[in-house]
Amino acid sequence: MTETLIKVDLTKSAYDNDMVHNRWHPDIPIVAWTEPGSDFIIETYDWTGGFIKNDDDASDVRDIDLTIVHFLSGPVGVKSAEPGDLLVVEILDIGAKPESNWGFNGFFSKNNGGGFLTEHYPSAQKSIWDFEGMFTKSRHIPGVRFPGLIHPGLIGCLPDPNLLKTWNDREIPFVEANKDRVPPVGTVPFAPTAHMGRLKGDARDKAAAVAARTVPPREHGGNCDIKDLSRGAKVFFPVYVPGGGLSMGDLHFSQGDGEITFCGAIEMAGWLHLKVDVIKGGMAKYGIKNPIFKPSVITPKYDDYLIFEGISVDEEGKQHYLDVHVAYRQACLNAIEYLKKFGYSGAQAYSILGTAPVQGHISGVVDIPNACATLWLPTKIFDFDINPSAAGPIKYLDGSVQMPIAPDK
Ligand code: ZN
Repeated sequence: MTETLIKVDLTKSAYDNDMVHNRWHPDIPIVAWTEPGSDFIIETYDWTGGFIKNDDDASDVRDIDLTIVHFLSGPVGVKSAEPGDLLVVEILDIGAKPESNWGFNGFFSKNNGGGFLTEHYPSAQKSIWDFEGMFTKSRHIPGVRFPGLIHPGLIGCLPDPNLLKTWNDREIPFVEANKDRVPPVGTVPFAPTAHMGRLKGDARDKAAAVAARTVPPREHGGNCDIKDLSRGAKVFFPVYVPGGGLSMGDLHFSQGDGEITFCGAIEMAGWLHLKVDVIKGGMAKYGIKNPIFKPSVITPKYDDYLIFEGISVDEEGKQHYLDVHVAYRQACLNAIEYLKKFGYSGAQAYSILGTAPVQGHISGVVDIPNACATLWLPTKIFDFDINPSAAGPIKYLDGSVQMPIAPDK
């Protein structure tokens, strides 16, 4: 029987589980060791440690303390892995915890986290998604059902002291220089809510004061939110500390490219079945700075899309120079406007783009002054025909079902 190296009890606080942590620091002790070539199971909390509830009230999304995230399981040590190696992680399988067969998606309030379209959707909202085996659907967003492309939003190895310093040296001044911006431009170390795993006492306090937050993706991978890092994928992670110190969490049942809703994809608690190996000296051998990976042989098979274009001209008509962020935002807004014609609220359409297996492409970055980004919406996830026709859109939804909203207090 495959060994479960880390277990989580969803009825207990993630802070009480010392095989869980919510910061990156080289001193966080490795909690379990395994051999190259072995396979094992790791259980995880959802990224908020169970803060977001399966109900029809978005006040939890509004009120969450975002310094508590992300609760990660680990670090796991792989014997023989040394700095400069590549840790090979094959994702054999991923699933939901049987006692928690659902997930959530939402948008944070602009005043507490924000998101990609926070200027358009400034209030906290959420949708709950139930799993039916490999499929999911939401009681808050009718007319749509799709299979999961389950993946860890966040996975990577512990940084060494130099890498941690590099992160803090570039991120802390950046946040300081923009400290009045709402929402903020980054996250800085914050000791009070740090969960440092098995590091205790003075050592814990000292490390927590400088430990990196888990929000951004970085050189080690981390919170990359790549939907294609799914079961069957094989990832090659840079190793910085002896044993690697692999940690993971933030499981997503499904996500659109960009995870534009930020709270987040379809977030869930669950388990990963992994197999590990080591490529000695692999970082130098292959010139690796950031992780590389091979996708799964299994993906949801959609071959019909409605593709929305966006250019780097913002909502006020202002020109931006080859800015793919602005261009992708326009593609998303264009898709939302389109879906509203079928009876969805803007929020419901936004949530679909954040959760369904939507593809985002950078289509052009040289045709000055406009970048072009495209959003690929799979047509077959809908219970009705969303294609344009001479007859015009059929209003499939009557607006009687809406997503819970929690206006700021
Ligand atoms: Zn997530």
